[in-house]
Amino acid sequence: MAVEEHELAIVGGGPAGLTAGIYAARGRIDAILLEAKPLTGGQIVLTDIIENYPGFPDPLSGAELMERMRKQAERFGLKFATAEIKRVRADGDEYLLESAKADYRAKAVIVATGTESRRLGVPGESEFWGMGVTTCATCDGPLYRDKPVAVVGGGDSAVKEAVYLTRFASKVYVIHRRDKLRAEKIIQEKAFASEKIEFLWGSVVTEMIGNADGLTGLRIKNVETDGESELAVDGVFLYVGVDPNTALVKDLVELDANGLIVTDEDMRTSAPGIFAAGDCRSKTLKQVATAVGDGAAAAFSAQDYLTGGPYGGGR
Ligand code: NAP
Repeated sequence: MAVEEHELAIVGGGPAGLTAGIYAARGRIDAILLEAKPLTGGQIVLTDIIENYPGFPDPLSGAELMERMRKQAERFGLKFATAEIKRVRADGDEYLLESAKADYRAKAVIVATGTESRRLGVPGESEFWGMGVTTCATCDGPLYRDKPVAVVGGGDSAVKEAVYLTRFASKVYVIHRRDKLRAEKIIQEKAFASEKIEFLWGSVVTEMIGNADGLTGLRIKNVETDGESELAVDGVFLYVGVDPNTALVKDLVELDANGLIVTDEDMRTSAPGIFAAGDCRSKTLKQVATAVGDGAAAAFSAQDYLTGGPYGGGR
């Protein structure tokens, strides 16, 4: 298989990867951004409204924000390729990035692969996947006009998307395993103010039920009483957290107990020349605002590494 060579390979086209690309291109590094699917923009494109990214007083969608970042990267000449990198291997003091279609060799790598939505793993989930069971309100919400739906989870994604779904659905049940939400207070306030949203506290989904046309309901267990009930819904939106896409470097860099990449504050991993940025990195606050900061720092550290620069990162 032909091997394409670059100074820097950035894996992932979300906010962290694109920001790293903008900084690398402006630093005149020969960089390529590799993304599994073209123009994906990462998980943030699934978000309908972003209200907390500074500089945009009027809310904009994740897709629009990512389109702007991409245009900015293109303006500075960043190269892009579609390749799902399965594994990164050390090759001397360089790295080989392997995909089914092509391999890439780079002196430095920025891993900005983000996360994957988690599933519940209950009976019926796989059977009705795409037939009522989904992880994307922005994509599928409009299909549930005047129909009852459920959202599972109590984090930012669950509560935010529950509010979004009230635009279409007749009723939105939020099924949460505890009696407290972990979502931002401002998002909680919007949900509590909605007449269409009803919270089912201390509850978990034990089964997804349906017929040949798709999902018709959920079997729900109250974790306090162990009592079971059935809830009739046409759709269920899962927001039960995310898993990091870090398998490609699991043998090369230190990961934490959750499989997230451990870095220092300049985004250096335990392997020289490999940097990590964004949600795939072990850190507390996962937002677009922090992902772009990571991306900028990772590109700067990669440049320092490639040029034997003054900040201690030289090859
Ligand atoms: P998250 O914060 O990890 O929340 C996951 C939720 O799912 C939690 O409420 C958790 O319950 C629940 N959960 C996990 N496993 C479950 C299971 N097996 N059964 C039932 N419930 C389960 O995930 P997220 O909401 O997707 O957010 C991911 C990151 O992106 C977070 O850092 C978040 O702040 C950030 N984000 C920010 C925004 C924003 O606009 N500010 C929007 C979206 C995401 P417990 O609470 O009991 O653990």
